[in-house]
Amino acid sequence: EENKPSNFIKNIIRKDLEDGKNDGRIHTRFPPEPNGYLHIGHAKSICLNFGLAEEFGGKCNLRFDDTNPLKEDTEYVDSIKEDVKWLGFDWGETEFYASDYFDRFYELAVQLVNDGKAYVDSLTPEEIKEYRGTLKEPGKESPFRDRTPAENLELLEKMKNGEFKEGECVLRAKIDMSSPNMNMRDPIIYRIAHSEHHRTGDKWCIYPMYDFAHGLEDSIEGVTHSICTLEFEDHRPLYDWFLEQLGVFHPQQIEFARLNLTYTMMSKRNLLTLVNEGYVSGWDDPRMPTIAGLRRRGYTAQSIKNFSEMIGVSKANSIVEYAQLEYCVREDLNKIAQRVMVVTDPLKVVITNYPEDKEEMLDAENNPENESDGKREIPFCRDIYIERDDFMENPPKKYFRLSPGQEMRLKHAYYIKCEEVVKDDNGEIVELRCTYDPASRGGWTDDGRRVKGTAHWVSARHYIEAEVRLYDHLFTIPNPGRRKKGEVFTDNVDPDSLKVITAFAEPSLADVKPLQSYQFLRIGYFTSDKDSVSGKPVFNRTVGLKDTWAK
Ligand code: ATP
Ligand code: MG
Ligand code: MG
Repeated sequence: EENKPSNFIKNIIRKDLEDGKNDGRIHTRFPPEPNGYLHIGHAKSICLNFGLAEEFGGKCNLRFDDTNPLKEDTEYVDSIKEDVKWLGFDWGETEFYASDYFDRFYELAVQLVNDGKAYVDSLTPEEIKEYRGTLKEPGKESPFRDRTPAENLELLEKMKNGEFKEGECVLRAKIDMSSPNMNMRDPIIYRIAHSEHHRTGDKWCIYPMYDFAHGLEDSIEGVTHSICTLEFEDHRPLYDWFLEQLGVFHPQQIEFARLNLTYTMMSKRNLLTLVNEGYVSGWDDPRMPTIAGLRRRGYTAQSIKNFSEMIGVSKANSIVEYAQLEYCVREDLNKIAQRVMVVTDPLKVVITNYPEDKEEMLDAENNPENESDGKREIPFCRDIYIERDDFMENPPKKYFRLSPGQEMRLKHAYYIKCEEVVKDDNGEIVELRCTYDPASRGGWTDDGRRVKGTAHWVSARHYIEAEVRLYDHLFTIPNPGRRKKGEVFTDNVDPDSLKVITAFAEPSLADVKPLQSYQFLRIGYFTSDKDSVSGKPVFNRTVGLKDTWAK
């Protein structure tokens, strides 16, 4: 494998290896909460965590951070596994679930209570919020803060046994109500939620908070480097506090800047809104930034990995151009996509000197970038369709496609020359009558005459209809996260972000399997959709041919 660029996290790891920290073990994890489908931001985290483990000969756990029963579901667990696998990463034999540690979490909470480092607070949720203070003002201590360990233990057991209603009390860490770091003002450890958990059912009615659970999950699994996004930087003191107080194995939390992309909303909560409110057809709508959506759109796993590598890892938040992601998929598809001919806006051409009852098969290479992809045959006859755009009645200078009296090459076929333009009563061009040069079979002649323009085409007797879905950005503004006052993010959804057309395709596309990538010659990259049926393929436009990313 080629040398991958370094970054500040790799530097930390190299230093730790040099110092012999953790006996030279490198252990990372990717810890999604199963409350939605993974998106391209998660892909960055997956590539980073699994990539580090691969590069440094360590391990990476896939861990479901399933400590909040209200929003989690096994549908999401399944989709997450599928997506990580599809990206090409292997978490080995074991899947880890935070919910498997619920007993251990409880034991450790009891330990904090016994050590006088946690207490049951009976303030109302509103009071807790009020007592917490603000950034400018210190918080106030709860009147329940001085309950004895014995008292707290009894109350905690009652919480656990379901003797309280939701919101009646919580378990809090006893840290510092005047800390300048709000996270340290006696954060909540356990809350009551009388709801079914997707794995533990109704065994528990108290659930641990993220800040308490996350470090313990890392610790229990022996994770050495716990990599998270920048918002958690000021949670790190709390992450460290719990591990120190409990005297358990202490992983190192490292923060990096999350991925933001133009024209994209990333958070699962917002993506769920788009799904629930019908702005998209589902989590795998090809306009969604989810891994499932990108896959259906035609993004390859390799292109997403290349993108992650290219954008790198940093400590500073920024927004990456969507065009950079497109650049990556275009590069990859250029290497692997089979070239085919599809006419999106057909104009009939009759080749008057081609025998009416003749049909022939012409050789077409599948991919000039890869000879081993071989050839196929495409039918040719007197009646064909070309792209309406490839003809101009009154062309400007240096127009090399078809115009009256001018020759143009039909890809894989012949030179044709336009002899007559047929119009309807409204003056609209309905047909071109052309002649062809039989000596130009295959697209060249011995006399070496120059024919500059080349166009794609389909046989009017053999083409099949294809549904082609043309996608644009889902949002009309580059930064939908930063919108005008009073707007909700869905106000900037582009109602025209999907246009469906019927195109005329060469017959080799009649029976496409889903998720095959093609280059429609001169048009763009397209991927067959799962909605395809025999004889009526459906394609999603992955990306156009022209690069718009300014490097
Ligand atoms: P969301 O707000 O989209 O729900 P999240 O951070 O709550 O994201 P988790 O399921 O908790 O989602 O994330 C799993 C991992 O993916 C975390 O380690 C998180 O830091 C990382 N991650 C999430 N979003 C991004 C992003 N935009 N860029 C990089 N990493 C991300
Ligand atoms: Mg999270
Ligand atoms: Mg979240």
